[in-house]
Amino acid sequence: MASPNSTRFIFVTGGVTSSLGKGIISASLAKLLQARGYSVTIQKLDPYINIDPGTLNPYEHGECYVTEDGAETDLDLGHYERFLNISTSQANNVTTGRIYQSVIEKERRGDYLGETVQVIPHITDEIKYRIQLLGENNKYDFVITEIGGTVGDIESLPYVEAIRQLKWDMGTRSLVIHLTLVPYLSAAKELKTKPTQHSVKTMLEYGVQPDILVCRTEKPLNDGIRNKIALFCNVDASSVIESIDTDSIYKVPLLMKAERLDRVVLKKTRASAQRPPKLKKWINFIKRLESPRGTVEIGLVGKYVELVDSYKSIIEALIHAGAENDCKVQLRLIHSEQINEQNIGEQLKGLKGVIVAPGFGDRGIDGKIAAISYVRKQNIPFFGICLGMQCAMIEFARNVLSLPKAHSTEMDTRTPDPIIDIMEEQKKVHMKGGTMRLGAYSCELTEASRVRDIYAKKEISERHRHRYEVNNKYLSLFEKGGMKATGFNPESGLVEIIELENHPWFIGVQFHPEYKSTVDAPHPLFIDFVRAAKTLT
Ligand code: GLN
Repeated sequence: MASPNSTRFIFVTGGVTSSLGKGIISASLAKLLQARGYSVTIQKLDPYINIDPGTLNPYEHGECYVTEDGAETDLDLGHYERFLNISTSQANNVTTGRIYQSVIEKERRGDYLGETVQVIPHITDEIKYRIQLLGENNKYDFVITEIGGTVGDIESLPYVEAIRQLKWDMGTRSLVIHLTLVPYLSAAKELKTKPTQHSVKTMLEYGVQPDILVCRTEKPLNDGIRNKIALFCNVDASSVIESIDTDSIYKVPLLMKAERLDRVVLKKTRASAQRPPKLKKWINFIKRLESPRGTVEIGLVGKYVELVDSYKSIIEALIHAGAENDCKVQLRLIHSEQINEQNIGEQLKGLKGVIVAPGFGDRGIDGKIAAISYVRKQNIPFFGICLGMQCAMIEFARNVLSLPKAHSTEMDTRTPDPIIDIMEEQKKVHMKGGTMRLGAYSCELTEASRVRDIYAKKEISERHRHRYEVNNKYLSLFEKGGMKATGFNPESGLVEIIELENHPWFIGVQFHPEYKSTVDAPHPLFIDFVRAAKTLT
């Protein structure tokens, strides 16, 4: 087995601009190494001051991804899990806020014994500690650490310095992959290498020589360009890796394989490349994505639809489920604020299934309720996730159970019928960060329910992120009306799932199944929802 300190550390930095796809490149490299039989984990270090992205508006930072252990993390962790089919945890996402928080706590405890606490060495030591923590006990063969932001930004500096020190300490057990942009100037009909040269110069100013350059480009890099980049940036031409735009993130591992990124990494870190990557399942998935037998149009009703990153995991889970059903899921994003009872038929026209998205606050609630009312009456498959489930119950209470003012106390604290209410233990909570019901909880599925058939087991575990809950006082009323709770948390009795009788497919879940869908294991609820959308309407 592994000898002392055999874990290799790969650092992924970005230059020139943001959004070059560091997360996807990291996940793709990890996939290739995993497919060769190596154990791999990925970590994201984010240079902002928030302790975690849980308090960030989706407009700022896209979706907040929740891990099994209840960490609210960057959406890149979702990509890591979807690509690798392994769970990440709190330790896989660290922000500057968290680094400073623990350094300041140590200072207050007196741990620094009178020293002046400084960015170097105290903050950099804490960063190094958080990186190396994942390599403890040689649990992984490779730890890939992605540094958020762009090199040259003030806030990235301590991270680049920590990498410089680690690289010095670790030698060939570590390497730096730097992502840059090679823009195409259409007027000159040329790819330009200058931004890459400048970005590498910035790295060199900080004392870090990148070992591999991954160059994001719209056009293929010819040998001339590769050689030029190699010459100016002190790397060999085989370490200049083309990352060309592609229509699916899931093709990137194969593109990286063709560019031999994994081989270069193995060679430079002195690891064996003898076992070729086993990617049969992945390639089959791509084939199904590429040649679907049909298309099914599904609507996603939410209030952040301008920004698809806000619903990243739901969108990816639908892609996985589509491939599983041999069909392409055509997604129509519908802004809940633009829906009303008059235009609902037009807005949802042609859709074979509708998802109502998770969310917070009352903006767009009426549109969500109108959409649910429509699909309930029109027998269109409906899938409500978290707030989507809560809205389904509000709609049902108002329109079927004759409780016209029923609401969630999140939106209306004075409703006479609080069918969704704040959890008892949440009433004492005043701090917003990290205090929701978060992470994995188990759920028992009722016999003779649709979900029991779909999951084909009695007990499941799913991840949560919410403060409000179904008010069990109203449960029998709902049941009499035909809306049944079919999943409960065994310890607390909280309702986790509701289903509507006499409807082709109408399921609401208090948890977030989308976080658990991966390429290797698409989520059963999404698979069955897409199957229903494909076959029932
Ligand atoms: N706002 C709701 C709650 O806190 C739903 C949260 C969600 O959809 N994730 O309970």
